[in-house]
Amino acid sequence: MIGNVQPAASHFVDGRPLEDAGGTEMPVHFPGTGAVIATVREATGAVIEAALAAAERAQPAWAALKPVERGRILLRAAAIIRDRAEALARLETLDTGKPLSETRVADWPSGADALEYFGGIAATIGGETIPLGEDWAYTLRVPLGVTVGIGAWNYPSQVACWKAAPALACGNAMVFKPSELTPLGALQLAAILTEAGLPPGVFNVVQGRGGVGERLVTDPRVAKVSLTGSVPTGRRVYAAAAEGIRHVTMELGGKSPLLVFEDADLDAAVGAAMLGNFYSAGQVCSNGTRVFVQRRVREAFLERLAARTSAIRIGDPLDEATQMGPLVSPAQRDKVLGYVAKGQEEGARIVGALPEVPESGWFVPPVIFAGVTDGMTVAREEIFGPVMCVLDFDTEAEAVARANGTDYGLSAGVFTRDLARAHRVARAIRAGTLWINTYNLTPVEVPFGGSRLSGVGRENGRAAIEHWTEVRSVYVGMGGVDAPF
Ligand code: NDP
Repeated sequence: MIGNVQPAASHFVDGRPLEDAGGTEMPVHFPGTGAVIATVREATGAVIEAALAAAERAQPAWAALKPVERGRILLRAAAIIRDRAEALARLETLDTGKPLSETRVADWPSGADALEYFGGIAATIGGETIPLGEDWAYTLRVPLGVTVGIGAWNYPSQVACWKAAPALACGNAMVFKPSELTPLGALQLAAILTEAGLPPGVFNVVQGRGGVGERLVTDPRVAKVSLTGSVPTGRRVYAAAAEGIRHVTMELGGKSPLLVFEDADLDAAVGAAMLGNFYSAGQVCSNGTRVFVQRRVREAFLERLAARTSAIRIGDPLDEATQMGPLVSPAQRDKVLGYVAKGQEEGARIVGALPEVPESGWFVPPVIFAGVTDGMTVAREEIFGPVMCVLDFDTEAEAVARANGTDYGLSAGVFTRDLARAHRVARAIRAGTLWINTYNLTPVEVPFGGSRLSGVGRENGRAAIEHWTEVRSVYVGMGGVDAPF
């Protein structure tokens, strides 16, 4: 039973739902069956204008509130999210196709963590004093103003919270555009924030495809753009933001390495490789999709991996027992199946029998490729589906060099019992996050983001504050002015 998930209106602007019948219809599908579960409309120029104008009007008063009061509203919103956890998890499952077993623990709960964390530290955001002899200076951390958030479809509600929570804690207003494929969660966030006491206009949601995002990014009122998306979109959005010298945070894609040394706890490494390739049906930016396994343990690794993978329960995302659901769209399924065919063509070998998947919905079975070499397409390009590439290596130096043989730099993992090696590898791999003997944990306390093509800026942790504020320096002259003329 899906029930009625049609939102009150397509957009949320100036503290209330807003519809404009002139916008093109965008059907929302449940990826588990392909059924249409709701329809929203793309934002028209009038809706975009209303959202930006509301944000511009609301921001100064919001910034002037005591930070502890801003924080209290975010904390209240987090409490509402926790109270409605089950309904929100269900909605996220319907919007994304990810199984309830994931959306109950990962998506909104992580969003609530962000609201609690940034709500909690709002009142601690301050500057420094700088002694200059008689004179002195101090710095203020001031909000940027009107900001834009643009989200991907894999963690739509988490992404909306990860952007809104620090932005609002710092005194900014935001216009958020979710992915056209997953428009429902952000509307809930806007309604919940309003219920928690957020003044109208501080957080607005407008729906639409890339074109709507483009209009937001290039509007002269916008001071900052935070995008979660692919590298090609990142390039376009970064360039558009540059025209107005806007601040940016770019959370983009990856092709992250996971190094398994022969002294590793092999069962833990197999679990991490599965988690880092098959969770959310592989639609996770930080996935460790290039699994480098030291040659001596390769066969044992593959054997355990194949056995555990064949036992994954794939099926209806609304069934509590399901561990893996479909991909978000038919286009994404076809893209991933194209990579599976390409991998075979280029000589990679599929390990084990592919598990059965339901016929309705946009499912792809988990695929383990062995015998992968660095030059193969599947080892170079981000697939964003449940496709794991296993590569062999002999020495640490070789593994590190090959792990770094990519233009991406989002994350990486290392499994070893050798403490010194773990930290050596952590320092040598060029990535924003490195996990030692675990994988894909992204608690809100820890900065997250990419290097090189994987992005600029950081979300989460205190580091995020630097990306939602700017420093204003105030010089205080205590004596006369010593002018040379
Ligand atoms: P896309 O890059 O296709 O889209 C991201 C968002 O940008 C969507 O809302 C999209 O709208 C919008 N958009 C597209 N073109 C423009 C434009 N010219 N101007 C402004 N906005 C635009 O990414 P996906 O949604 O396909 O998400 C998957 C990608 O996201 C993967 O590469 C993944 O690695 C990355 N990702 C990165 C994360 C990180 O934190 N580093 C986390 C999660 C995902 P629409 O789609 O509606 O057209």
